[in-house]
Amino acid sequence: MLNRRRFLSRLSESVAATAALTPNIAAQSGSEWPSPVLDIHLHLKPNDGNFEHIEGSGVRQAILLTSVEQDDVAKAAIAQHPGRYAQFVRADITKPDAIAKMRACLKDGAIGLGEINFHVAVDGPEMRGVYELAAEFDVPVTIHFQEDSPGDGEFTTPFKSLPAMIKAYPKTKFIGHANAFWANISADVPPNTAYPAGKIKPGGLTDRMLTEFPNLYADLSANSGRNALGRDPEFAAAFLERHRTKLMFGCDCPCKDGHGAGQVSQAPLIKGRCVARETLTALKQLASPAVFREIVWENSHRLLRIPA
Ligand SMILES: [Zn+2]
Ligand SMILES: [Zn+2]
Repeated sequence: MLNRRRFLSRLSESVAATAALTPNIAAQSGSEWPSPVLDIHLHLKPNDGNFEHIEGSGVRQAILLTSVEQDDVAKAAIAQHPGRYAQFVRADITKPDAIAKMRACLKDGAIGLGEINFHVAVDGPEMRGVYELAAEFDVPVTIHFQEDSPGDGEFTTPFKSLPAMIKAYPKTKFIGHANAFWANISADVPPNTAYPAGKIKPGGLTDRMLTEFPNLYADLSANSGRNALGRDPEFAAAFLERHRTKLMFGCDCPCKDGHGAGQVSQAPLIKGRCVARETLTALKQLASPAVFREIVWENSHRLLRIPA
């Protein structure tokens, strides 16, 4: 009995110690960057791996991109770390039941769709179903656009047909992401090059669409986003300022710990490194503190209508 009492007392002491530590850990991870950070593109990792990544990269909140099959895992992570996560959902849109499955998840707490990355046409029936579902629930949809990427196939093509879709679905909030979206930051897009290098030619389709369409947003994640920021710093700084209310930080990082462990990419800007850290560092260098805060925190909270 005494032993049990002592055990319980020890337990409550250690719980109190843990509780006292937790705010310090949160404060440390939040203070590393000039403002709190929300990561809008974090694929669900097994065994609570997302938590190690957000703590390691100094991220306060993240959107877990989750397949309908992983819904339970995402729900458990959200419950385990209150206030740290929200969830987007995707299903295989080449299958007839995809829309019904995603609709069920949207009714059950998911606050967006994505990422949607399939070998389908940007203006085909599969994507039109997605655009309609996003409008029906008034949630954004994150889409992977990829063409001219040798070996990896094409996703949501042709990119040049995207403006017609954004115009045709004005109630759908599009979040653009990936190779083709960021290659088209420049007016000249070299063929068969996933990550173009060198100076940017003004007037690119992505730049023009962000100006023209209020329902288009951009996700700066992955090597595609990091590469776009690294090509031409002068252009990038003006681009961030010009679209300061439309751009959102995300990482899409495969590393384990928010410090680059397990990063296998050989791309020069992210090789051996955490994409979250590299992109946040680039944003810090290129943007004013006010623009940095909009891009890494305020825009996503406003778009997703989640409390900051
Ligand atoms: Zn992607
Ligand atoms: Zn990382």
